[in-house]
Amino acid sequence: MSSDSRLTSILFNKCPRCHEGDFFVTKSAFSRHFDQMHDHCPHCGTNFMPEPGFYWASMFVSYAFFTIWTLLTFFIVVIGLKVDLNYYLVGLVPTLIILTPYFFRMARRTWLTIFIKPLPHPTPGKLS
Ligand SMILES: [Zn+2]
Repeated sequence: MSSDSRLTSILFNKCPRCHEGDFFVTKSAFSRHFDQMHDHCPHCGTNFMPEPGFYWASMFVSYAFFTIWTLLTFFIVVIGLKVDLNYYLVGLVPTLIILTPYFFRMARRTWLTIFIKPLPHPTPGKLS
């Protein structure tokens, strides 16, 4: 992967340390085993399970994603497009259900990314 940003790792299922190995076993958040993670990065060996219960707090990150999604769509649909609030709420519930596996995976990657320092990117021309 050309980019070494943490955001790239969070969005594209990559290891927060090396940005190369996959974080979850399946590529898609909408597959049957969307929640299965690698124990260690297949590329650099970083431990994805630092301690038991580590990902409990990612539940709050997921909650933040749902809140951001709800507020963002509210301002676009109800305020911007002037759609009736009841129609918005009826449409919101299916989107929240559909996005649950995606936000689940993104929340776990975000939570681990907070605690993992990425590998330094090699500077061209610099010998180490
Ligand atoms: Zn890695």
